[in-house]
Amino acid sequence: MSQHDIGLIGLAVMGQNLVLNMANNGYSVGVYNRTTSTTDEFTEGNAAGKSITGYHDLKDLVANLKSPRKVMLMVKAGPAVDAIIETLTPMLDKEDIIIDGGNAEFNDSNRRTAEVEKSGLLFIGTGVSGGEEGALKGPSIMPGGSKAAWPHVKEIFQKISAKVGPNNDIPCCEWVGEAGAGHYVKMVHNGIEYGDMQLICEAYFILKHALGLSNEELYDVFSEWNEGVLDSYLIEITRDIFSVKDAGSDEYLVDKILDTAGQKGTGKWMSQHALDLGVPTTLITEAVYARCLSAQKEARVRASEILSGPETKFSGDKAQFIDDVKQALYASKLCSYAQGYVQLNAAAEEFGWKLNNGDIALLWRGGCIIRSTFLQDIKAAFDKNPQLENLLLDDFFRDAINQAQPGWRRAVSTAVELGLPVPGFSAALSYYDGYRQARLPANLLQAQRDYFGAHTYKRLDKEGTFHTDWIRER
Ligand code: NAP
Repeated sequence: MSQHDIGLIGLAVMGQNLVLNMANNGYSVGVYNRTTSTTDEFTEGNAAGKSITGYHDLKDLVANLKSPRKVMLMVKAGPAVDAIIETLTPMLDKEDIIIDGGNAEFNDSNRRTAEVEKSGLLFIGTGVSGGEEGALKGPSIMPGGSKAAWPHVKEIFQKISAKVGPNNDIPCCEWVGEAGAGHYVKMVHNGIEYGDMQLICEAYFILKHALGLSNEELYDVFSEWNEGVLDSYLIEITRDIFSVKDAGSDEYLVDKILDTAGQKGTGKWMSQHALDLGVPTTLITEAVYARCLSAQKEARVRASEILSGPETKFSGDKAQFIDDVKQALYASKLCSYAQGYVQLNAAAEEFGWKLNNGDIALLWRGGCIIRSTFLQDIKAAFDKNPQLENLLLDDFFRDAINQAQPGWRRAVSTAVELGLPVPGFSAALSYYDGYRQARLPANLLQAQRDYFGAHTYKRLDKEGTFHTDWIRER
C-alpha cells in the first residue's frame, strides 16, 4: 500500500538529517541507501520510533510512495546521481518527481531536467545549504527544475526549511526558476560564502598584524561588529573562534591551525562561469586565488626568507583604524553581493531563467552559512526595483558605500603601506572605482589591439569601425 509522503536515497550525514527533519515535521519517509547496513543502522538508531521506514530494494521503496511519487537523492554529486536516475526512471510513472538535493554543478542540472522531462517525469535540482545542523533543524532550500513539480513539494520543502521574519514564519525556501537555476543560486551562495570568509580573514589579519590585537581583543571587536550592519552567522562564529583554547593548554587554538585552506570547488565553479559569461566577479575569484596561495605553504615559507616588504609600523589612531577596517569589510561585502547578483542576472539571461532577486536574498536569510541581517536590505532593494541593474545603484546602498568609503580607502592604503595582503578589500575597491568611471583606459587598449593585430576600433565622435596603420602614422 502506498504510504510515504516522500522517499530519500542516500543516508550519509545530509540525507539522514533531512529525513529526521521531514519526520519531525509530520511526514512519512521511505529511505534507501546503497550500503544496506547503513539503512538498518539508521532505522534502528536515530530514526527508531519515527515515521521513517527503511528499504533494501529501490523497487520496494518506489512501490510504497504516494502518487505522484517524490524521490529525493542525497548522494555524492556527479556520476552517482546519473546512475540512480537511470535505475529509477523505469520504475516511476508519468509526472513522478526525481529531486537531486546534492551539490550538483548547474550544467548537470540543466541536462538532467531535460533528460528526465523527456522520459515523462519531472525533475528538481535543489541547493540545500546549512550543513548537517541546517539539514536537521531547517536548511535554506533553493529549488529549480520542472516548474510543474513545485506545487507537489512546496509544502514539505517549506515546512522543513529555516524560517525568518518577526514571527519566524517566512520559509527560506521558494521556487527559484527553470532547469539548473536552483543549483546555480546555490553555487552563487557558495561563492559569496567564499568572499565573506576571505573578507573576514583579511580584517583579522590586518587587525592582528597592523595593530597587534590579541585574540581577546579580536573577540571584543567581532562581538561589537556582530551588533550592527555586519551582524551575521560568519561574524558570530569568527568571534567565538577567538575564545577557544587548545585542549589542555592556555594557548588559543586558532593560532595552532596550519594556514593552508582547502576547497571543494563551488567557489571555483562560480569564477569559471563568470569568465564564460564575461562578468567581473572579481572579489570571489580573488577569494578562490587566496585559498590557492595559502595552499602553497612551503613556497611561501621559502619566499618569506628571500623577499622583503616595507618595515613601516602602524602609527595612527587605533580605534579609528578598527572602524576603518569595519567599513572596508562592509563596503567590500556589498561589492561582492553586487557582483554575485550581476553574475546571477547574466546567467538568467544566458539560460532564459526568470529569477526573483528579492526572493533569492530571502532564501539566504536563514539556515545557511551566509545568513545575515544585511540580506534584508538586499531584499528591500530588489522589492523597490525588481529590475535593479546593480545593488550599488540602490539609494540605500549608494549612501551606505558613500559613508563607508573614506574608512575603506584608509584601510586598504594602510594595508598596502604596511605590506599586508588584502586581495578582497582591494579587488572590491578597484571594482567600485572601475564601475563608477564613465571612461576607462580601454581606448588605449583598443589602439594597442589595432596596432599589433588590426583588430579595429570604434570612435566616440563617429559611427563605424576604424583601422589605422599605426606604424605609418607615427
Ligand atoms: P556524501 O559523502 O557526499 O555521499 C555519500 C552518500 O552517497 C552515501 O549515502 C553513499 O552511499 C552515496 N553514494 C555514493 N556513490 C553512490 C552510488 N554510485 N550509488 C548510490 N549511492 C551512492 O554525503 P553527504 O555529505 O551527506 O552529502 C550528500 C550531498 O549533499 C552531496 O552532493 C553533497 O555535496 C551535498 N551537500 C553536503 C553538505 C555537507 O555539509 N556535507 C552540505 C550541503 C550539500 P554508500 O553509503 O553506499 O556509500
